[in-house]
Amino acid sequence: MVFFWLLIFAKIRGNFFPLFIFTAMSEREINWDEEFADDPEYQAMTPEQRDKLLAFMERMLDKGLAAIYGDEEEGIPDANVNCSQCLSSCKAKCCTLIFALTKQEAEKGIAEYNQQRPYFIARDKDGYCPHLDRKTFSCAIWYDRPLRCRRYDCCTDENVWPDGIPDELKSAFPG
Ligand code: SF4
Ligand code: SF4
Repeated sequence: MVFFWLLIFAKIRGNFFPLFIFTAMSEREINWDEEFADDPEYQAMTPEQRDKLLAFMERMLDKGLAAIYGDEEEGIPDANVNCSQCLSSCKAKCCTLIFALTKQEAEKGIAEYNQQRPYFIARDKDGYCPHLDRKTFSCAIWYDRPLRCRRYDCCTDENVWPDGIPDELKSAFPG
């Protein structure tokens, strides 16, 4: 699963402190307690404080007030997936998943982002990315597609393959 850090400032007991949360390239609900398991500041809060803080974060995102920061890491290769072999089965399910753009991507302005929740990737009403051709499932910004699109490997993602990868498509995932 691909993670991205989101930095916001939260007010707890009268003090502001930076709190990192990350978004996953997945439409599954995030288990915040699990995701924050290694964060001592988060663990130090009472369940009531945590609920309040998370509700606050959600409101910030809904109002479009949260800012996303993060530099792209160098040296991580793109995923090795032969998508063209799978498209008739997967229907580009990955292009419906929600993820955050990096700071560089937000600055470049090539990939559309959700105006209500900057800088999460935009999604059309049918759930697909606006850059996806619905007939061919090709990406209109392929050479400038976001980092998460480039590095995402769906092979173990149950959102894409709830019953696992069909045998005839396994060669599309050389690893
Ligand atoms: S990454 Fe997976 S879901 Fe996305 S187009 Fe390629 S094979 Fe299909
Ligand atoms: S930018 Fe391209 S590869 Fe990424 S989600 Fe949109 S259509 Fe899919």
